Amino acid sequence: MAGEPQDDCLFCKIVAGHIPATVVRETETTVAFRDINPQAPTHILVIPKVHYRDAAALAAGAPEIAADVLRETQAVADEEKLDSYRVVFNTGTGAGQTVWHAHGHVLGGRGLEWPPG
Ligand code: ADP
Repeated sequence: MAGEPQDDCLFCKIVAGHIPATVVRETETTVAFRDINPQAPTHILVIPKVHYRDAAALAAGAPEIAADVLRETQAVADEEKLDSYRVVFNTGTGAGQTVWHAHGHVLGGRGLEWPPG
């Protein structure tokens, strides 16, 4: 069921503490941790603790938690002292989504080109 932990979900396992992660922030509803394969000097993932397959499903099913995730991207950027940064929610296979638990990438610490690849 949407929102319930999924046994086969990597990020649900990180939320549960069953897989280690370098956690930089945690709130009642969110966790932020360093990406294992960073694409920028700062590359942090902000996820809801509840399981939704992508950001759109999260926004539809738990809009208040979607707002928490967005607020946390700003908090992470502040903690990392990023003046400029990018928040990315890859949605769907064609956009490169590989983990089917909503997550925002916070990228910064270098110049970021537009459009992204
Ligand atoms: P992509 O793999 O194309 O970036 P996503 O947008 O679904 O697709 O992002 C998943 C992200 O999760 C990737 O940036 C990947 O490096 C990261 N990741 C995968 N496993 C872990 C892990 N155990 N700890 C931290 N980050 C992870």
